[in-house]
Amino acid sequence: MLHFYYGVMGSSKTAQLLMQRYNYQQLGLKVALIKPAIDTRAGANKVYSRAGLEAKAEIVLEPHHSVREQLSWLAVQNAFTDYQYVLVDEAQFLSEDQVQEMADMAMHLEIFCYGLKTDFMGNFFPGSAALLRLAEDIWEVPGGLCWCGRKATMNTRIDADGRVIKQGAQVLIDDHLKDIRYIGLCYAHWRQGKSRAD
Ligand SMILES: [Zn+2]
Repeated sequence: MLHFYYGVMGSSKTAQLLMQRYNYQQLGLKVALIKPAIDTRAGANKVYSRAGLEAKAEIVLEPHHSVREQLSWLAVQNAFTDYQYVLVDEAQFLSEDQVQEMADMAMHLEIFCYGLKTDFMGNFFPGSAALLRLAEDIWEVPGGLCWCGRKATMNTRIDADGRVIKQGAQVLIDDHLKDIRYIGLCYAHWRQGKSRAD
């Protein structure tokens, strides 16, 4: 089955993914960790959660990669006949084709995709839109809070001074441009462009 666990910036998506992986490993189950190549914040193959957990992704997926081929290659490398579980971090960066491929593969495999639903302008990422269309099991990862204490639902791009940025490229990883960060806000404060109390 293809699962999509979406959550806003600052929810505990990656921590939850890494705990899930740990639990499978403790049981001796074969689990593959995938991340799209576009996210290089914590090193090319590092999956990192702000809570301090981290792991190395077995597959760093380029946009043109076939998920099926990459997994077969990994299975051969590790002398496994097959993987039982696949976990994908930052799944909003998957291509539509990759999500379609995963939906087809998930008839015989449990695939869990964790990622953002929308970008800083409130638009879908292509990967998230495809997951919302095709995943058979969709859940929200809770925990993201706005500075006002309400539930955060909107991803917000801010500059070094905390000013909300409303325009620009959909993908700007915070490490490439040091003065850009992302936070989660409630809908009202995202709409007002108010990133803090003052
Ligand atoms: Zn708020």
